[in-house]
Amino acid sequence: SQQASGEEIQRKIAVVGDSGVGKTSLIQYFMTNDFDEYTPQEYIASALKVDEKLVELKKDKKVRLYIYDTGGQETFKHLRKLNYPKSDAVIICFSVENSESLQNVKKNWVPEMQKLCPGIPMLLVGNKVDLRNSARTIKNFVRHADGRNMAKGNKMVSYIECSAKEGENVKEVFDHIAQVAVKRK
Ligand code: GDP
Ligand code: MG
Repeated sequence: SQQASGEEIQRKIAVVGDSGVGKTSLIQYFMTNDFDEYTPQEYIASALKVDEKLVELKKDKKVRLYIYDTGGQETFKHLRKLNYPKSDAVIICFSVENSESLQNVKKNWVPEMQKLCPGIPMLLVGNKVDLRNSARTIKNFVRHADGRNMAKGNKMVSYIECSAKEGENVKEVFDHIAQVAVKRK
């Protein structure tokens, strides 16, 4: 992680998780500071998209993130496998309003990433907290402790809750993954 002044560090970040948890919205908010409602056609089109953005870690230390948005759809499984290799870190997303999407972190996403990218640092992100914050009824939302335990139990680096809709903690997610990815090498 040494860097001569002016030299640019580059890191590849994969973003995975079930379809519909908000991966594309999260990346889009990070890129543009804006949230758009998606049509189904649009989120299929986002299955294999690469965004890049320069992140400032601290004074004079910057990292260019190449962010791989991978659709969670089963039909893209063979494409996802082409996309992962050489990732430096992964953001595994679920939605706090969908407890199945949290269970699939353990069932599908952690094993898939460990198989294809052994030893990769994994950050767990619980998205759509705005829905939990504004809920009028006590629905079965995933609680902060559930996410934290999932991260701990699967040796993930951290757990962060965010809202791609309101922008809450979105910058924190990418700042954190940038630090983790840079530290790795
Ligand atoms: P992806 O399949 O994981 O890429 O999910 P998308 O980004 O396409 O989002 C799926 C749906 O959830 C869309 O209708 C989004 O507008 C919505 N969505 C995404 N993030 C949030 C969020 O933080 N809060 C709320 N309320 N809705 C969200
Ligand atoms: Mg998407």
